[in-house]
Amino acid sequence: MSTYYLTTPIYYVTAKPHLGHAYTTIIGDALARWHRLLGDDVHFLTGTDEHGQKVLDYAEAAGKSAQAFVDEIAPLYEQAWRRLNISNDDFIRTTEARHKLGVGELLQRCYDAGDIELDLYKGKYCVACEEYYTDDELDPGDLCKIHKRPVVYSEEENYFFRLSRFEQRLLDWYAAHPGAIVPEFRSNEALGLIRGGLRDFSVSRTSLKWGIPLPWDAKHVAYVWFDALANYITAIGFGSGDETEFKKWWPARHLIGKDIIRHHCVYWPAMLISAGIEPPAGYAVGGWLLSDGEKMSKTSGNVINPLDLIDDIGLDGFRYYVLAETAYGQDGDFTYEGLIARYNSDLANNLGNLLSRVATVVDKKCKGISPAPRADSPLAAAAATAYAATAEGWDAVQPSRALDATWQLIRATNAYLEANEPWKGEPGPAVDAVMGDALEALRIIAILASPAVPATSQIVWQRLGLSGDVTDQRLPAAAQWGGYPGGLPVVKGDPLFPRR
Ligand SMILES: [Zn+2]
Repeated sequence: MSTYYLTTPIYYVTAKPHLGHAYTTIIGDALARWHRLLGDDVHFLTGTDEHGQKVLDYAEAAGKSAQAFVDEIAPLYEQAWRRLNISNDDFIRTTEARHKLGVGELLQRCYDAGDIELDLYKGKYCVACEEYYTDDELDPGDLCKIHKRPVVYSEEENYFFRLSRFEQRLLDWYAAHPGAIVPEFRSNEALGLIRGGLRDFSVSRTSLKWGIPLPWDAKHVAYVWFDALANYITAIGFGSGDETEFKKWWPARHLIGKDIIRHHCVYWPAMLISAGIEPPAGYAVGGWLLSDGEKMSKTSGNVINPLDLIDDIGLDGFRYYVLAETAYGQDGDFTYEGLIARYNSDLANNLGNLLSRVATVVDKKCKGISPAPRADSPLAAAAATAYAATAEGWDAVQPSRALDATWQLIRATNAYLEANEPWKGEPGPAVDAVMGDALEALRIIAILASPAVPATSQIVWQRLGLSGDVTDQRLPAAAQWGGYPGGLPVVKGDPLFPRR
């Protein structure tokens, strides 16, 4: 059994969960579910980033201690992910003891390797990014490109990570691991950053009071990258004294947003190489989910609460939209009209309608008991094609492509029913043959759609009279044509997706 360790970025607790967070987390959840279907041993991690000056500022503004503040926000993420049916295996908070231990160990290893040194830092600093920038990285007027606000001049004694020493080692590693970053245009972006020349970066602050002290110099507190990025290894026991889990799961595959490529694809593997740890196995870089063309964020004010949308459209309607609407890697534009349009076309008219008409005809023409599929069904080829393309889509971290492939089988099955019109035929072998084929297609559809719409897939599974859990099926065997036994009671239930 192969292991599959997948992470989302950890989310900074100055914001409550919003659609942007939900987007990446749902992508991760669907991938984790797909790999469980494949029989992989899956470990899916998400969590919260809880240190830094901004957290202190927010806590002070709220009249709370930093710890009390983060203790209030972190559970909002855990609750949101439960509500969104996220199947994470762990949730890491960077204020946990296991994290602090591991960060200390990572820092110490890089320090012992001679790659962390004391130096004076002066330069232009974006308070919101917590990052120094050179002139060519800023917009005219010394504005931060991300926050569109002025940077400030800052000077302090910091420890630095000697990233400049890692240029060739990173290029060599990426050359030896083609396809480590997908989609490819994001890979080119990361390699361009490395080839453009690497500058050492600061790993500590003396001014910061809310963070993890450096093991060898407690006046300094670990600055964002050595703290936040380390979650991917501390969560699985790195630095805990017992590294069984760490050895089992590492290296991870990271889901990241395009705005954190530099930190994840350049800083992070260099830090790991310095510490004698293998770089991550891969990265899938997503675009931003935009709302009216703007990145969704607290500062821009266009925050959509994903939980409000679930009340409106149902959990699986929301999950499906997020996964199917946008090619992963590109920016997606969220519109309420788009959500409703996709819900009606793909879920109500296609999947919902297929299940409803199959159950109705089986009820009327087959006494409610399912016929078995034919081995030589005209739908068998469509099912095989759908499976291959669905698997290819998930493998490439392209959920929209995977779901489109699965939905091709739904469309083919609806077309097959329309061509044969079993609702017009007399009960008998001809109708039974068509319905057995349609039931078998639905069985395969339920499995293939389950990473995106797990609760719905389970309902389909049960209405087909199948026992157990759809998520316990194992691919590719379960997608083989002919797995539906027939002779089962088919349940006519309420519409899966009432039209909106
Ligand atoms: Zn900024």
